[in-house]
Amino acid sequence: MIIIEKDKLEVGLELSQLVLNHMGAYVSVKGRDKKYLYANKKLTALFKSSFDSIVGLTDSELFDFSTYADVIESDERVLNFGDCIEKKEINIIKLTGEKTVYLSSKQPIYNIHQEIVGVLCVSTDITESHYLQEKLEIEATTDPLTGLFNRRIFFKLADQFLSESIRHNRYLSLIMLDIDLFKGINDEYGHLIGDQVIQFVASKAKSLLRKEDIIARVGGEEYVVLLPNTHSKSAELIAEKIRISIDSSYITGDWSGGIQPKISLGVSSYTEGDSDFFEIYSRSDKALYKAKSTGRNKICMHEKIHDAVSDSV
Ligand code: GH3
Ligand code: MG
Ligand code: MG
Repeated sequence: MIIIEKDKLEVGLELSQLVLNHMGAYVSVKGRDKKYLYANKKLTALFKSSFDSIVGLTDSELFDFSTYADVIESDERVLNFGDCIEKKEINIIKLTGEKTVYLSSKQPIYNIHQEIVGVLCVSTDITESHYLQEKLEIEATTDPLTGLFNRRIFFKLADQFLSESIRHNRYLSLIMLDIDLFKGINDEYGHLIGDQVIQFVASKAKSLLRKEDIIARVGGEEYVVLLPNTHSKSAELIAEKIRISIDSSYITGDWSGGIQPKISLGVSSYTEGDSDFFEIYSRSDKALYKAKSTGRNKICMHEKIHDAVSDSV
């Protein structure tokens, strides 16, 4: 409830103070020395402080170091270049350790000589919507069973990686991987245990990759691995490492005996002239088909130059 100590509202400083102190945003003014000259009530409450004790302080005394560095960088852009900035800031308050995300709008304050004398900052707390958006983004790009990337984001990333490879003439390889005779595992152990096998293969394969490699689940028991800056020969070795690791696995759990899954893999690489990721994808698919039709638990390579699929092992 907002109560004034008068009969009616009057235009003036008091009314401006009233508005500033009751608006749903954090408002501050800092001078050229980046010391606070003004903080509205909402901002002083955030620092569990009073107006008088904030005036004269700098952000280094109020925020943790990473927040401070970020805030200073944008303050300096405003103070030195007159930039108007609107940006997302993740702030950690020194006193409480509280982490909050703000949408901050900063603009310079000029004196009559057109010199910048301060910075006005208005920040809105967007923590809830920021984390909700982050959660939705993760959900939209993640396969819920394995935690790997899903099909949708994979093809988006693959297009970007191919563009990079074309532009900088870099290697790019793709492994397509499919669990052998998986239907039989489902039939023998049931769908839920089948799911655990899918999860096992996913985490095993992922554990053998580099940080920059992209692995995704693109079908029921089908995965793809995109290897940036990787020649087909190295991709073949990585594929073989994954195959051997799965081949020697023995999955035990809430069932009798153990499951020994096998996988087949098809490998191909970016070759000059490829303009669409689908060309690489379909070559790996062909190679995978060959691996399946020639015995399974093996790798086949597809070399575009010879337009032929060759056995690897
Ligand atoms: P191949 O060696 O030729 O790949 O034989 P396969 O039996 O693995 O291949 P097929 O495509 O015939 O069977 C795949 C099976 O995977 C059929 C489908 O019911 C099962 N499947 C698809 N998605 C899931 C899933 O999310 N969980 C489980 N448990 N099974 C799934
Ligand atoms: Mg299969
Ligand atoms: Mg399949």
